Amino acid sequence: MSKMPAAVAAYMQHNVKEQMSPLCLTFNANMQLARFSGELAAYNFPQLKLGMEAAKIAPMVEGLDYKDLPLSFPVVEVFDGAIAHVHLIAKKTGGIYVLLLDAKKEHKSRQIFQQKANEVQLLNEQLTKVLKQLNKTQLELKQKKHEAEQASALKSQFIANMSHEFRTPLTSIIGYTEMWQKRLLKPDQVQQAVDSVASGARFLLSLIENVLDQARFEAGEIDIETSPVNIAALLAEMAAMFAPIAKQKGLEFELETEFAADTWFELDEMRIKQLIINLCNNAIKYTDEGKVSLYAASSDLSLTIRVSDTGIGIEKSRQETIFSPFQRIDVNRNIEGAGLGLAISKQILDLMGGGLTLTSKPNQGSVFEVCLPVESITEQQVDNKIQQATGETVLVAEDNPDVIEMIELFLINAGFSVILATSGEEAVQMVLKYRPQLVLMDINMPILGGLAATVRLREQGYDKPILALSAASSAHDKQRAREAGCDSFLLKPIAMSELVRAVNYHLSL
Ligand code: ADP
Repeated sequence: MSKMPAAVAAYMQHNVKEQMSPLCLTFNANMQLARFSGELAAYNFPQLKLGMEAAKIAPMVEGLDYKDLPLSFPVVEVFDGAIAHVHLIAKKTGGIYVLLLDAKKEHKSRQIFQQKANEVQLLNEQLTKVLKQLNKTQLELKQKKHEAEQASALKSQFIANMSHEFRTPLTSIIGYTEMWQKRLLKPDQVQQAVDSVASGARFLLSLIENVLDQARFEAGEIDIETSPVNIAALLAEMAAMFAPIAKQKGLEFELETEFAADTWFELDEMRIKQLIINLCNNAIKYTDEGKVSLYAASSDLSLTIRVSDTGIGIEKSRQETIFSPFQRIDVNRNIEGAGLGLAISKQILDLMGGGLTLTSKPNQGSVFEVCLPVESITEQQVDNKIQQATGETVLVAEDNPDVIEMIELFLINAGFSVILATSGEEAVQMVLKYRPQLVLMDINMPILGGLAATVRLREQGYDKPILALSAASSAHDKQRAREAGCDSFLLKPIAMSELVRAVNYHLSL
């Protein structure tokens, strides 16, 4: 390369000097400092003396092969934090020049660059995380949307079903009662008409109960209330209920159990019946020919109830879903149902600490097996708990004439003396006058309601059992009745046996 013009070379030299503070250390062939010139102050060296060993002030020159020169080391720490580009140049007469050019600024900007690079990497990692999370949330939302759409479709299906379910029994109830009112029924048709009205009403009640129960479960308002239950009698009652229904469809119904007549368990009778009713109803509904069996047995501390049928069966892929609310298979088969029976049964069993399992094969039949922990009790213990309390006086406060008449009939049939009151006011007066052994108190009465009447009676010192009677069944209603001073809460409509058992139970406490 040809030489630079002198002015340019001088300019460059001046610039390098200004910006890079050059310092040249000259070492002789013995690697001792022979000379130094330039900006010494920029490099934090201790006092330099001629003759100093190169190893002490410029260790990078040690062990160098002269053939490799010139050499440069960019951005190194030369001494006590001083940063420089170091160039090693051979000296013609032996020895070496060490040229230092200040690299503090460059080092600083490299550091800043590195720091920024680290920050960018960190931000990138965070961005990846956020994107992943976003992806996950999107998938979850999609899934939730799908579930909500499914639930909505199921509920629409449910409403359509319910409308049909309600109308069918109501048609026969209204039809037969109208015929009765217009005296259109022939004497030999009356029994069948009454049976049909009664079974329609029972069906409606179970439907309403199922729908309400599902709502109660969703609100966490279901309690299990146990009392001594004669299991053999309960099973016989169930068989008596289902044998004729099965027969009507041309099916055999079999009860298989070895329980002795005096076997008692602590159970929630209403819920156990609800379970068996749900399972037997299904078994009959989904079986066109063959047999439905109800089997029950116990071992140690567990009770097994099994309902088997020879019906249409359930394919494997649906054997789990049918336990969820509103899930029905093949709704077009035109079989009545709301899709709640199994869901409710499963939830009841969960509350009782039991389980419900299913074994089934399409076109061969199904077996639903209930297993739940139970405590057996002896008849003597039962007698101690519930003594037949016939002859005692019960006051019934109820404003509906049909209901009061029916309850009076139940109680008189069971051997009680009955006093009637048709308002809360009257109930308070009669209780204080006649002091009955127990009061059945309707909650909803005009002027003075049942709860206010109960509060008044407790204030007047009446300390015998008061059982609330109501069609409202939420946990809140029960709580209010308890707070007013009621000992128990009976839900309308109530079966005769249940009412009499509750009265006996509280009289014997
Ligand atoms: P529902 O019978 O009112 O539809 P369930 O919750 O009792 O509601 O049952 C849910 C579904 O499970 C039914 O719609 C039916 O498809 C199926 N299922 C229940 N029990 C049986 C059975 N014994 N045999 C065949 N399928 C059954």
